[in-house]
Amino acid sequence: MTQEMKATVVTHGGAGGSRDQDDGCQFAARTGLDRVAGGGSALDGAVAACVALEDDGRYNAGSGSVLCLDGRTVEMDAAVMDSQGTLGAVACIQRVKNPVLVAQAVSRTPHWLLAGEGAERFARTAGFPLYHEISERQRAKHLKLMATLGGKEPATPGVANRAFADYWNYDTPREFTPCDTVGAVARDAAGNFAVACSTGGSAPSLLGRVGDTPIIGSGFYAGAEGAVAVTGIGEHIVRHLLAYTVYGWIAGGMPVEEAVRRGVALLPKEIDVGVIAVNRTEAAMDSNREMPCAQVLHD
Ligand code: ASP
Repeated sequence: MTQEMKATVVTHGGAGGSRDQDDGCQFAARTGLDRVAGGGSALDGAVAACVALEDDGRYNAGSGSVLCLDGRTVEMDAAVMDSQGTLGAVACIQRVKNPVLVAQAVSRTPHWLLAGEGAERFARTAGFPLYHEISERQRAKHLKLMATLGGKEPATPGVANRAFADYWNYDTPREFTPCDTVGAVARDAAGNFAVACSTGGSAPSLLGRVGDTPIIGSGFYAGAEGAVAVTGIGEHIVRHLLAYTVYGWIAGGMPVEEAVRRGVALLPKEIDVGVIAVNRTEAAMDSNREMPCAQVLHD
């Protein structure tokens, strides 16, 4: 899509999700754009959109995050970045409602990424209250995953279900015998770009697992020429530094639509992946799976 330099927010609800959930992406993109139109920066817009997706409860982020294999722990990753130098991320954070807001708070510290217990303690110091509510939807998803892990079909393409039992590192006994993230990219009328993304991680996974979402250049990147957010199986995405690769193509003059399509095509078909991106005049989204997504453009 080509457009004059107008503010815009593009959102996704995770590769492998359902287009029935486009309404949540549309609401989030609208929420983000309202922030930008009301005088906020591209970063304010991307973060507001990402918070709306985290709060929706249907996507694998924030309130909808997948439960870890023990059926009770929730570990989340999130990141923010903009073309004016903002960079912050959290990995494996527990017991917060909006990891993307904690990631934004990390960007104001001397560091760019905080992980695990330190990230949670930082969140409390920064004033984010303890939050650990598990919905029926999350429980139902967990039971379904446990059933898959007990079967012959691999729950993760190319990975034997047994691996999760062999390397079990939770402090509860394992209960079986041998992906959707959210993201937003934004452009404001001044030509600044930002990205915000958040995930409950991929399932199944061992405790402490971190994918691409909080890793700069893999799950996200923003610079003077645009912003990119990626979704899919992190273990594969990091090997391609996918967000930075797509950003590099855009910065080199490749049309955004072509850049996101090529980015998706870098991964084998059996691996879920999706990419959204903006530059000065264009925006595009592509995935090799169904992927809820939306774009709202300021008129
Ligand atoms: N990229 C996320 C991860 O690997 C999962 C996803 O996008 O669905 O943690």
